[in-house]
Amino acid sequence: MTTKIPAPAREWGGRLPVALVFPEEESQALSTLGWQGVYRELTADNGFIVERYFWDRRNNQALSPDSDRRLGIFPLICFSLNFEGDYLRLINMLRAEDLPVRSADRGDWPLIMAGGPIAFLNPFPVLPSLDFVFVGESEDRFAKIALIIRESWLSGQSGPEALKQVSPRPGILIQGQRHKVRKQISYDQANLLPSPVHSSFISSKAVFRDSFLVEINRGCPYGCRFCAAGFIYRPPRSAHLARVKKIIQAAAPRKVGLVGTALTDWPDLKQLLAWLHRKKIKFSLASMRADGLDRTFLEFLRNTGTRTITLAVEGISRTLRTAANKHFDEEKFFTAVENISDLRFNTLKLYFILGLPGENLSDLDELALFLEKLEKARQSGKGGKQKGVDLISISASMFVPKPWTPLQWAPMDSEQSFQEKTSVFKKMCSSYRGLTFKAEKASAARIQGLLSRGDQKVHDLLLLASEYGDSWRKALKTWTGKMEDYVDREFPAETCFAWDIIDIGVDKKYLFQEWKKYNLALMTSPCDHHPCSQCRRCGMDGFLQEQERVDRT
Ligand code: SF4
Repeated sequence: MTTKIPAPAREWGGRLPVALVFPEEESQALSTLGWQGVYRELTADNGFIVERYFWDRRNNQALSPDSDRRLGIFPLICFSLNFEGDYLRLINMLRAEDLPVRSADRGDWPLIMAGGPIAFLNPFPVLPSLDFVFVGESEDRFAKIALIIRESWLSGQSGPEALKQVSPRPGILIQGQRHKVRKQISYDQANLLPSPVHSSFISSKAVFRDSFLVEINRGCPYGCRFCAAGFIYRPPRSAHLARVKKIIQAAAPRKVGLVGTALTDWPDLKQLLAWLHRKKIKFSLASMRADGLDRTFLEFLRNTGTRTITLAVEGISRTLRTAANKHFDEEKFFTAVENISDLRFNTLKLYFILGLPGENLSDLDELALFLEKLEKARQSGKGGKQKGVDLISISASMFVPKPWTPLQWAPMDSEQSFQEKTSVFKKMCSSYRGLTFKAEKASAARIQGLLSRGDQKVHDLLLLASEYGDSWRKALKTWTGKMEDYVDREFPAETCFAWDIIDIGVDKKYLFQEWKKYNLALMTSPCDHHPCSQCRRCGMDGFLQEQERVDRT
């Protein structure tokens, strides 16, 4: 059934109006870079009128800081999807605009599309609501797609005609597509990041208040087997120092936030921070590794305003960290804790994952020993002084299997088991002063797990949850699918996943080998900056050759 919806106004002065939608609150959007890069690409061309839309939590609808125009009047509506939670907000935003939530029921303009990391991780649960998906890292590639749509729109073509023009383009996925779609990546021979993304907006409303965010690296060489970023952004690439300095100088910010994974691995980090310090520009680092925190560097961070250090421990035992391929040097970690305490940082934040496959009581026993060592390191850092690191805040999240990771075949933990483990963990922490513990809700994590491995059948569940005012419990009761089919079982090797139609360059056989190594608790060395052509381990070498051929045509 095609619903007649008011056609978007045609007369915009020969320009294409585009709504760029980040389905989360503005504070979160302003601290996320991908869509800001697309915003800059599109606004660089005067032929587009671009307005931003964020999620208005109070009214559960889209809200624009740029105008009071309704989202539904834009002929091109672009969603930036970054988290599984965005799926439901997308549906809610369309419903709030009286736009049919199934693209099949829309029949003409607007064209509604999505991009962002979720687009190349697994867009299938929300695909029935979309006319097309852009699978890849944008860097001007999406602007080319928008240009084609603009020509169609200005020449009076219908939405479906415009879609016909776009669907053969590289990186485009549409419903019912049978052929593979290659993820579009931005890459150069030297594994450098040609154009690091950075903030288009600096705001006191942002999660990273008043910070100018700049990307330092994309992807991660370590390949932790539960982490999608280590696989969907291969090969790992770093920005060029001179390029980063130029970007910061052009923005002249008072504070800079450096974005990336394992920033302490970037060889130019200390040079850049010293340069920022000389220019009296404050800075913050998104993520660090304990093995990159020697005494001198910690002193520099302490003397230049850093008060909180955040480290990821992940698995609660050595066995689980090995199985997860977490390159974690315990000795360097505890030495870092001693120095952090001795230098009297205010807070040490530690992140753990509970519920990894194969986790058992002996892992919890090992955790108890780990916490003892942690306290000992903190105390020895104090060295009899009154103060050390005041607060060690521990957060435990639940393992959620992610597409394109070696653990995409793995079952999730049950709600009951996770809750038992968190209460044991919490009890352990309560016996230490200044050690706090918090864990995420198992029910929310399992919904995330269902969405993360969902297929198009999950779209019906999203519609139900939206109708029931975001109640997953009610929706699951009515939905014809079964949650346990998506989260509670180990998938066999030959499983054909919905996202297999996307080619991110990493070979599925390589991922399955890594899953087997997980179960044997065997490590794999990092992919640190070999040219892929020499390494050939995960399949990226062949993919990059093909990308170069495509880029030449
Ligand atoms: S081919 Fe080797 S260097 Fe390239 S991404 Fe894969 S593992 Fe890393």
